[in-house]
Parts: sequence; C-alpha cells; structure tokens
Amino acid sequence: MRLAEANPAYNRGVFSSSPADLITATGGVASLLGPLGFLLGLIFGSFLNVCVSRLPEGRSVVSPGSACPHCGHAVRWYHNVPLLSWLLLRARCRDCAAPIPARYILIELATAILFCFCAVRYGFTLSALQYAVFGWLLLGLIATDAETRLLPDAMTLSGVAIGLGFSFADATWREKLLGVAVSAGFLYLTRWIYLRLRHVEGLGLGDVKLIALIAAFLPPRSVLMTLLVASVVGALAGVASAVAVWIKRLIRWKRRGASTKTAQARATIAARLMMRTYPLPFGVFLGAAALAVWLWAQYS
Ligand SMILES: [Zn+2]
Repeated sequence: MRLAEANPAYNRGVFSSSPADLITATGGVASLLGPLGFLLGLIFGSFLNVCVSRLPEGRSVVSPGSACPHCGHAVRWYHNVPLLSWLLLRARCRDCAAPIPARYILIELATAILFCFCAVRYGFTLSALQYAVFGWLLLGLIATDAETRLLPDAMTLSGVAIGLGFSFADATWREKLLGVAVSAGFLYLTRWIYLRLRHVEGLGLGDVKLIALIAAFLPPRSVLMTLLVASVVGALAGVASAVAVWIKRLIRWKRRGASTKTAQARATIAARLMMRTYPLPFGVFLGAAALAVWLWAQYS
C-alpha cells in the first residue's frame, strides 16, 4: 500500500484491472497484429507466386519445390526468403542470371500490406481471415489473368465455396447466394449475347466465375459497383490501347513515305482489327475494381 502511494505508476499495469488499464493491455496485443499480419502476408504472398506460376499450367503447387524456370536449378531455401531474396539476388537467378520478374516482389508486398490491413482493421476476428482470403485470391487472379489470360478454377470456384462458407458465419448467406446467382447469370448472358452478335469471345467463362467469387464475399451493392467500375475502366483501357495502336501505325506508315491520308486509313484498319480481336484481360479490371470498392467501403 505504501509502495503504491509512493509510486503512482505501481498502481497501473498488471496489478490493477480498471477498464482503462484493460484497454491499454489489449492495445499492446493489437499493436502486434499489424506486424504479424505483414509477416504472414509475406509467406502467403510467396506461396501465391507459386500458384500464379503453376496453376494456369495445371501443375501441382506442392511439389516439386521451387526451381528456376530457365535453368531448372532448385531454389535454395536461403534464396527463397520473401522480399529479401529478390532484393539480395538483384532480381536474377543465382545459377543462370535469368531475370526474376518483378511480379514476385509485387505480389509478396501487396499480400503483406493486405494482411497487415486486415489485421489492424478487424483485429483477431473471423472477418480479418475472410477478407485476407478474399484479397489474396483476387491478387492471384489479377496476376494470372494479366500474365496468361487465364483464371484458374482452383482459385475462382474454390473462392466461391469459401466465400459462401464465411457467409454462414455472419448470416448473410441468402443475400450472398442470390448475389452469386444474379451476377454470374448476368455476365453469362452478356457473354452469350456478345458471342451471338460478334462471333468472338468478349468475355471468358473465367470472368463469370470471378464475379461469382466477388459476390460470395461482398454485399450486392458492392458487386454492382464493381461491375460498373470494371466495365468503365476496361472500356477506357480498350479505347486507350486502340488509340495507341493507331498512333504507332500512323507514325510507321508516314516514315515509310505514305501520304497522310493513306497512313490514317491504314492506322484505322489496324486499330479496328485490334479492337475486334485483342482480348482485354477483363479479370484484371474486375479484380482490381473489387479490391478498390471493398477498400472504399471501409471508409465510407
Ligand atoms: Zn536459373
């Protein structure tokens, strides 16, 4: 008693359990969640890179261990440390000096930031796990679509199942199930109409499964917003790449000595052909829009 009177600090901390002290104590644990999420994100980001490289080729993500795709040498464990290895090896294979794509470090960093955000935003809860899984799957799908124009079923369909599984925990499964059916049905119908009218595949079946995944995790309002944002940004990107092709061709034909009129006509043909045949990776836009809409909803 006398000690406590002499030193007021003695009264705080573990010896007392006033509400204010409890908050301080849990605050201490919570402050560890961020860094812990970051580290966990680095590990899962590293595994996601394996998935992105192997799933589109139908290879196992478990065995064999990591190897350089150029020289086939196995990656030593100390060269397999997320983030650090890429930097220490200066983005080159130790054995054959083949460049290691920037995608490896980007995925690791993005997953680490995502997990850190989920841990800080939701604390030690099921929601943190739910949205970490959601973002992790989206990051992987954005990368596979950008690299290979494929959205592996192993990620989309299992994502739908996992998302619906979580929706039982927060009792939103009716809403989510309806969202999955309506959004996937809508994109499937759009795909069918486009195929009938233009006789080329404008939307892949993978995109249909991806919107189902998004609807299994996000409320219907956010799914609608995702579709809107992805369509607008995707269309703008399509127009931008057509304009880029047009300018490039125009310069090329002018250099070859064609008249302005001929060069413009040739450039227009090339741009039109590109618009008709070049498959825009819509999954990239859908995935990025879903992440943006989800993040935006956290602060509105
Ligand atoms: Zn190599």
